[in-house]
Amino acid sequence: MAVRVYNTLTREKEDFVPLHGRRVSMFVCGLTPQDVTHLGHAKTYIMFDVVARFLRHKGYHVFYLQNVTDIEDRIIKKMRETGRDWKEIVAANFASYLDVMGTLGCDSVDVYAYATDYVPEIRDQIRGLLDKGYAYVSEDGSVYYDTTKFKDWGKLSGQKVEEHIAGARIEVDEKKRDPADFALWKAQKPGEPAWDSPWGKGRPGWHIEDTAITIQHFGPQYDLHGGGIELAFPHHEAELAQAEAFTGVTPFVKYWMHPGMLMIRGEEMHKSLGNFWAVSDALARWPPEVLRFFFLNAHYRSPLDFSPEGLDEASRSYGRLRETLRSVEAERRRASTEGKGDADLRGATRRALEAFDAAMSDDFNTREALAAVFDYAREVNRAIGLGAGRGALDEVAGAFDAFGDVLGLFARGETGVALTEGLVDLLVGLREDARKRKDFATADRIREALGALGIALEDGRDGARWKRR
Ligand SMILES: [Zn+2]
Repeated sequence: MAVRVYNTLTREKEDFVPLHGRRVSMFVCGLTPQDVTHLGHAKTYIMFDVVARFLRHKGYHVFYLQNVTDIEDRIIKKMRETGRDWKEIVAANFASYLDVMGTLGCDSVDVYAYATDYVPEIRDQIRGLLDKGYAYVSEDGSVYYDTTKFKDWGKLSGQKVEEHIAGARIEVDEKKRDPADFALWKAQKPGEPAWDSPWGKGRPGWHIEDTAITIQHFGPQYDLHGGGIELAFPHHEAELAQAEAFTGVTPFVKYWMHPGMLMIRGEEMHKSLGNFWAVSDALARWPPEVLRFFFLNAHYRSPLDFSPEGLDEASRSYGRLRETLRSVEAERRRASTEGKGDADLRGATRRALEAFDAAMSDDFNTREALAAVFDYAREVNRAIGLGAGRGALDEVAGAFDAFGDVLGLFARGETGVALTEGLVDLLVGLREDARKRKDFATADRIREALGALGIALEDGRDGARWKRR
């Protein structure tokens, strides 16, 4: 099925047709490593990980580029607050970001590009914008983009001037000619890191870091630009204005994707509100797959409300799918080649793969895709009850592998939930051995210990089965 994408630029779902055949150039606004990685980051980056995975699954050759905003106002602020060097702040926070993303299974980025590695390209773009009359130099040696010169200013976000929008980072600066203008180059203030430029020592503005990086890697046009909805204005509007004015090529980006914000019990997440959740805090309470499931079991464009109860609920729902997957594994080991109801099960597998593909092709609707997986799991459980054969169950396992490749769920390896399940299987096996030896004291001890952890055992003719209570 052809992929359709909701494009913020046109406010419509459009057929996804890359600029160059099956090659897809994809850029997502990356981290400003000034603090720990929080759940808002997790929501955005898990979603774009799934976008890249799904496009690859559909046979596209995706180059996924993410920037690292290693110099920006918030890093300077952190430097002043902590007395630490900016490079140290960036290195520590970015290392923990990579660690957390790895744990969450976000492994689809090809290149992380550090803004400060692109200062020559940034200077070239600023010079180009000045030459074409889209920028001006202020008395102190800062350079500003003149938004009144760009006729399409506001076309992406539908917004032209600073209004309050949730989470937006707005610059206040009295040296601008127009309130909507923004800095391309910021003259050095005492104690700030700085680079040389024809306008004096200074540092790049936030927005031009991204266009320098993408034009260097992708040229004047690319396929897909993502970032949280709070970045649409002014950040992405400014990127578009810079790039299209600098290269003269339109559109700069073919498809713009903006996931909705993460809310904490209906409020924006802020340290000052005391509702801040670092990803590491969440990972101490829930396995990474449960976090992924929580974010993917919602539509990416909607705001998503987080609460510990919501995560516990997600943990139970995801547990049901894992339970099905586990009984598939167990049945495959004991089932005979053919079984009752194999034809029905094979039909259900085919329909589930189609429904999953249709949901994902419809603007990456992970919520619908998971709904299809839940429907399918019910049919699989029924088929197992009837006694399904190994061949049909192998196809079920294959279908879950396909869902898992795209969503980053249902791991059968040694990570997270799979590890826990493997350990429970091992204990149940040891208990079986103890029973066979008539060592009932050990067998009972294992049963009680598992019971205390919420695992119920059921002894049957062909061995024990376990279930989460
Ligand atoms: Zn950006």
